[in-house]
Amino acid sequence: MEIACLDLEGVLIPEIWIAFSEKTGIEALRATTRDIPDYDELMTMRLAELDKAGLGLTEIQEVISTLSPLPGAAEFLDWLRERFQVVILSDTFYEFAGPLMAQLGYPTLLCHKLTVDESGKVVDYNLRQANPKRQAICAFKSLYYRTIATGDSYNDTTMLTEADAGILFSAPQNVIEEFPQFPAVHSYEDLKKEFIKASNRDLSL
Ligand SMILES: [Mg+2]
Repeated sequence: MEIACLDLEGVLIPEIWIAFSEKTGIEALRATTRDIPDYDELMTMRLAELDKAGLGLTEIQEVISTLSPLPGAAEFLDWLRERFQVVILSDTFYEFAGPLMAQLGYPTLLCHKLTVDESGKVVDYNLRQANPKRQAICAFKSLYYRTIATGDSYNDTTMLTEADAGILFSAPQNVIEEFPQFPAVHSYEDLKKEFIKASNRDLSL
């Protein structure tokens, strides 16, 4: 049995924090782990900025629901789900991804969770587990699934390495050069071809 594991942001949907920052005009929310390497510090800053702007979960979800999946993403996902069991492994939060998942037909998503108080204010965040993408691959392997994974960035490389086959999609050049062992593609048509190649079944039938 084979299972396809997809990163979410940069593969099927835009980077949520960046798109959210553009929609709201809150410049500080553009920051990523490249700017603030300590994830706890980064998230604490993000939650403080949301609070300062008076954005509770309802307002945040309203903004996010105006975002769309990447062009062609929904069709690609449909194609993949006809051929593989598909699980999305992401470092986003269920509460943020929700409005975009609705547009993708709610595929299975393993990601993190926010804590929201009665007033709708986001007060904390809860990581699902350490090294979540790689751990999910290990778990599927323990169930004797053959895993094919795709992602676009550094936080995917342990997942791609652990998987039976790893594919880089739309990755920046430095990631492609640092991880030459993975095929790197930039369109959904080419990504389909890589999945067909990586599968041990004859998917051309
Ligand atoms: Mg990504």
